[in-house]
Amino acid sequence: MMIDNYYIMQEIVTTELREHLKGERLKIALEVNTLIRRKMSDILVKHGFLEIPPVIFSSVTDPLNHPVYDPTFEYEGSRYSLTKSMIFHKQMIVQEIPKIYTFSPNVRLETADKAKSGRHLLEFTQLDLEMLNASREDAMKLGEELIKGAIEEVVKKLPDKLAILNRKLRVPETPFKTYRYTEAKEKYGDDFEQKLSELEVDPFWIIDIPLKEREFYDREKDDEKGILRDMDLMYPEGFNEAISGGEREYEIERIKERVLAKGQTFEQFKWFLDYAEEGLQLSSGFGIGIERLVRYICGFKRIEDVHPFPKTPGKFSI
Ligand code: AMP
Ligand code: MG
Repeated sequence: MMIDNYYIMQEIVTTELREHLKGERLKIALEVNTLIRRKMSDILVKHGFLEIPPVIFSSVTDPLNHPVYDPTFEYEGSRYSLTKSMIFHKQMIVQEIPKIYTFSPNVRLETADKAKSGRHLLEFTQLDLEMLNASREDAMKLGEELIKGAIEEVVKKLPDKLAILNRKLRVPETPFKTYRYTEAKEKYGDDFEQKLSELEVDPFWIIDIPLKEREFYDREKDDEKGILRDMDLMYPEGFNEAISGGEREYEIERIKERVLAKGQTFEQFKWFLDYAEEGLQLSSGFGIGIERLVRYICGFKRIEDVHPFPKTPGKFSI
């Protein structure tokens, strides 16, 4: 019975997938994907960044600040997780190579309710980067250059494809508008991110996110306890989050304090903490969700439309 259900589901999904693979929309999305990856790589290389290969699994990965299932496996007596983000590897390598980026495949087994958002996949790619001795403001400037550069490139090189999709895309002016998290929440309520995203016509930042909303590794402000030197970039037109990033905690005592404050253990992050114990320098960085950027540029309702083999939260996929 179970086996029968499995094959029926597999057949339904495969039939849908065949139609999806034939479609014009996917083809255009992949053209956008190819173009923007190249453009953003060019920008980063021009700034002296080196590309590093992705880490697919590790004994330590991002704890995240929202619940996801954790796919782990054992190999030769040790336990590994699939990469949720390369934050710790980035913070480690940037100590030696001061500007790095990677196109990192992340697996996050998000809960089924996330399917409604239209912006969550179980498997996606981050353009994930980190720079040494750089401030949050340096990172924001680079983020703006990358997002504006990607949009401008598509508007310039693929106007006919945008017209087929009936997508009118604005090239945003920099610097982008900035909201402080707490003030925006007070003014627009709990749903302020979505509300602001629907009100705005260009990408905008939300900065100074409170400690409880984020993982332990984003740096706390010296002059404002409980508030972090971090940021999210939001897309307009209701497309919601584009980027998360910030300055990182680098002083071992502060890192340990933050791990404990999250109810996490030193054991969970052992090699990273051992490394940090030797002394880290300040770094800043962020991750851009590539599928989300392609979705925004194409103006698609659902993120699945940009991926040839999408995995939707809560759903069977081949
Ligand atoms: P985070 O640091 O957890 O916010 O992840 C970095 C970026 O990756 C986000 O700003 C999104 O653009 C993207 N991202 C995170 N989770 C997902 C997901 N489940 N599906 C697609 N993109 C995601
Ligand atoms: Mg985020």
